[in-house]
Amino acid sequence: MVKFCPRCGGPMMPYKKGKTVYLRCIRCGYMVKADKKTLKTYQIRYQVEEDKRVHTSKATEARRLALTPEEREILKEYYEIFLETFQEETESPSE
Ligand SMILES: [Zn+2]
Repeated sequence: MVKFCPRCGGPMMPYKKGKTVYLRCIRCGYMVKADKKTLKTYQIRYQVEEDKRVHTSKATEARRLALTPEEREILKEYYEIFLETFQEETESPSE
């Protein structure tokens, strides 16, 4: 489930800084450190929503998450960029 900012109520997205991953508010930039469990939740959530997109209209999704269409687009981009790097790291073999 997407976490919401304690300051402004905006959606918080994974944000990588060095080797540490944070959740950062897309509205005000508030950051908290994210643990692996939280990141997994984001990953699973995203995959579920991708599947559901076939059956669910975008308007309904946006209303349920209380996000503007613009914010939905930002979230989508964040997810895609983040999941790419996240998967690369978790799947790469250790030397
Ligand atoms: Zn915020």
